[in-house]
Amino acid sequence: QPDPAACRARAEIDLDAVRSNVRTLRACAPRAELMAVVKADGYGHGAVPCARAAREAGATWLGTATPQEALALRAAGDRGRLLSWLWTPGGPWREAIEAGIDVSASGLWALEEIVAAARQAGRTARVHLKADTGLGRSGSQPADWPGLVAAARAAEAEGAVDVTGVWSHFACADEPGHPANAAQLEVFREALAVAERAGLDPEVRHHANSPATLTLPESHFDLVRPGVSLYGLSPSPEVGVAAELGLRPAMTLKAALALVKDVPAGHGVSYGFSYRTPGPTTLGLVPLGYADGVPRHASNTAPVLAAGKWRTIAGRVAMDQFVVDLGGDAASAGDEVVLFGPGDRGEPTAEDWARAAGTISYEIVTRVSARVSRTYT
Ligand code: PLP
Repeated sequence: QPDPAACRARAEIDLDAVRSNVRTLRACAPRAELMAVVKADGYGHGAVPCARAAREAGATWLGTATPQEALALRAAGDRGRLLSWLWTPGGPWREAIEAGIDVSASGLWALEEIVAAARQAGRTARVHLKADTGLGRSGSQPADWPGLVAAARAAEAEGAVDVTGVWSHFACADEPGHPANAAQLEVFREALAVAERAGLDPEVRHHANSPATLTLPESHFDLVRPGVSLYGLSPSPEVGVAAELGLRPAMTLKAALALVKDVPAGHGVSYGFSYRTPGPTTLGLVPLGYADGVPRHASNTAPVLAAGKWRTIAGRVAMDQFVVDLGGDAASAGDEVVLFGPGDRGEPTAEDWARAAGTISYEIVTRVSARVSRTYT
């Protein structure tokens, strides 16, 4: 009788790998503090356990996109420095300020809401002013920056805010040597100079994500903000292969075969029959589908390790299941199937999946849904 726990589809998370990756990244940026980016439930790995592991290995800051993610970390007991950067009007500024969460302002509307919330709370809000140095996403444009800085300085003078950070984000750091990287740093230095001339003295200036932490020392300033590499993944093939960068992938996604059956040659497999068995063979059913985060684009392309070999998904990935062609090899229900992992036991990696599904490894791990249980070692 197979062990039911061993048969459950699950993402096994190696927190020792997270700790090791934090140490590797800190060694890349020895003069900077490290903010562990744990948004999107720690890129699918579980924000709370990964945040704890990152803190244990020396991360002095945590970073989240939404304030709800930051508040959830506080509710789970985290008391350290924590920045949340993705705000919309009417957001829970007051709760965040009262919870000691640093907040980000990309424009005057945000600063005004922060000042109002800080007054209501009777507290000083810790604010990071965000400059758009070229990404074209959040952040203040250079033309608007002096106005934002002046307003922040005035709010600081009245005690409503403390400008603890000035920061920005790269567009092309995953392509080392891309001219936008140096250009963005130039704009950032100018933004810092404007802030300094206005009398601001931020505690942390920060611009580096994982690829910049790994490849661009001049971007480290006071703090680096790696995300994907905390979880052991390379940001891009151009930056390198995880193992060569000293990174250990933390997630292994596995399941057990739910059914093994013999079928004749020419048997259509899954919706639309995009795969037909080339000869008499054995099919194995894997109980994971796009509702679990397996990309439908992985149909007929992504590899899994089953019955000792890599097998390409046969036919379309459905909502809850997909099929592999075991080619007549011996297998039975309950046998382990590994979709991806660190790659050191012969299994594919998230990077192999990203290539097969035409996406990035960030998406492969982040999209593993709540239906898949996480187990931690
Ligand atoms: N900083 C910000 C503002 C981000 O949005 C992200 C993630 O997209 C990161 C840092 C971490 O980036 P990466 O996962 O490439 O290290």
